[in-house]
Amino acid sequence: MQLTANPSLADRFDWFVDWLYPPRCRACAGRIHGRDAEYFCAGCWQQIQRVLHPLCSVCGRPFPDASGGDHACGVCLARPPHFARARAWACYPREELEEHPLRRVVQKFKYGRKVSLGKPLGRLLAQGCEEFLGECDAELIMPVPLHPKRLRWRGFNQSLLLARQVGRAYGIPLDPFALRRNRATPPQTQLPEEERRKNMRGAFTLSSEGSVKGKNILLVDDVYTSGATANECSRTLKRHGAKRVYVLTLARAVS
Ligand SMILES: [Zn+2]
Ligand SMILES: [Zn+2]
Repeated sequence: MQLTANPSLADRFDWFVDWLYPPRCRACAGRIHGRDAEYFCAGCWQQIQRVLHPLCSVCGRPFPDASGGDHACGVCLARPPHFARARAWACYPREELEEHPLRRVVQKFKYGRKVSLGKPLGRLLAQGCEEFLGECDAELIMPVPLHPKRLRWRGFNQSLLLARQVGRAYGIPLDPFALRRNRATPPQTQLPEEERRKNMRGAFTLSSEGSVKGKNILLVDDVYTSGATANECSRTLKRHGAKRVYVLTLARAVS
């Protein structure tokens, strides 16, 4: 997979709009100076921690000790997930959740229903995870689906907007309807790992069985917290014959 770098007419139009209306930071709404600082102001960029090596070669958890290389973490060794590899663009600390710019921008996108954030955040994800995406031989891209009730309330699936940008940038066909969520799962941030896995069990179904058989799938979500959602989606896809599942998220909550 290769990133297609030709600026389209739409990109040029975006540049013109930026010139007319100078861009604001997507997290704090402060002024942005210069094209280099795209999307966030210097203060917010400083707080955004990119996911860097060394990291878990399976779930993508960054290791605090920068001296070693990539290897499977204890959690993945104890209970290997159903996906082959997961990666996030950047991470934020689980504790001070409210204040962090990345958390703030994800909240705005999802709960503030800022559809317009889909394109810039999707582009950041596509460009920032070039190495990972280059290594994945994904043949089909799909978002983690929302339950129809939540979709009606929010009006859009944030993961689909991200997946669309990644699919476009790398020329991977997108299937937004293959995976379905048939059970709404309550927020489970307080639950232990095992409980989360149990709660997610059977939450997804596949609508068109033939579409994933023998294929490498790239699953896209906004945030990776415990990995329970990504794992259950992957289990469903694998059960229906998917060869390998890769998981890509914009953010990862780390403790
Ligand atoms: Zn800012
Ligand atoms: Zn791991």
